[in-house]
Amino acid sequence: MRTRAALFPVLAAGALALAIVLADSSCGSKKPREASRLEPLEGFPREIVARRAARDTFLRSLPAAHGMQPFFVVNTQRRWASGQVVRVAFRGGDLQLRHDIENAAAGWTLSGNIGLDFGYQSSTGNYREWSPGDSAPAAEIRVGFDLNGYWSCVGTESLDTACAPTSQQSLNLGGFEQWRPPDWRAVITHEFGHALGFEHEHQSPQGGCEAEFRWDKEPGYVSTTDSYGQFVPDNSGRKPGIYTVLGGPPNRWERPTVDANLRRLPPSSAFETSAFDPKSVMKYSFPDWMFLNPLTSQCRGPENLDISSLDREGVARLYPRNPADMVALAGRQTHALSAAAKTETIPDPQQFVIRHQLDAVRALVK
Ligand SMILES: [Zn+2]
Repeated sequence: MRTRAALFPVLAAGALALAIVLADSSCGSKKPREASRLEPLEGFPREIVARRAARDTFLRSLPAAHGMQPFFVVNTQRRWASGQVVRVAFRGGDLQLRHDIENAAAGWTLSGNIGLDFGYQSSTGNYREWSPGDSAPAAEIRVGFDLNGYWSCVGTESLDTACAPTSQQSLNLGGFEQWRPPDWRAVITHEFGHALGFEHEHQSPQGGCEAEFRWDKEPGYVSTTDSYGQFVPDNSGRKPGIYTVLGGPPNRWERPTVDANLRRLPPSSAFETSAFDPKSVMKYSFPDWMFLNPLTSQCRGPENLDISSLDREGVARLYPRNPADMVALAGRQTHALSAAAKTETIPDPQQFVIRHQLDAVRALVK
């Protein structure tokens, strides 16, 4: 889930900054303080954060049934089945863009026992497509370009209307039809990592970046903004925190959105985790201002442009190739999904995912 740059191409921002500097320069000899426009951070938009939160609050309120807690089952079953071929459909984007997306996403399927089928027909040169009028999802993963930001639902959640209504994309690459950022390949890889079930490395229950972030403003900070309206250090050098900066432009995130996108995920066996991997493509590069002490932060570092060796191990563990491991995983999934399918209190959107996956697992182990 990356959101950067889609709304503010570098050229446009650069041209605007230059105009401001020139205007200031003409007023006198004092060197103007150049404002630099922040790139929007990647993350779910507010509506999706709210829908997911409402779903989870409701699921948590449900009592255990058939030996399982509905919230736990729904959230542990986000991985697809090992050996499953997950379909992808597009809305918008020309053939070249669709082809580039297919190629970039393929990195994951080389290491894990999971397939991505984009429905490409060599006879017509067309890819599978989805439409807002579809009464059922045209594919498990639906790619679109017309919403803000870069983000994706996580794994099977792509079929859950609490994350992505059937009439909307489950994976968004905002603005890619008009302009691609220089790191477009890494953005696609990252988003397909989510679509295949990976959470953010920087939100790892093992620690991630939580303790290193500057969440709150420094004591006494006086609200100060630059020419873009972005919060910056005040005249005494006191710094704003993450809540303040991301609450302003370009993100304008309220506190729950900040928390959902950046806070550590609760420790849970819902996640397959390894030691924090600073090279993971599922962690992205944060600007220095977000850290209490950027020089000593393990979270700081250049942008990771490709799948790391630990990412490869992760996808191979999530989707094993070894027949015995596949059968064992399918058995566990069938057991949990069957119990959930019998639990009538689980709402329809999640029941839809459960039944879809139960069918997928059963088809694979026939
Ligand atoms: Zn992400």
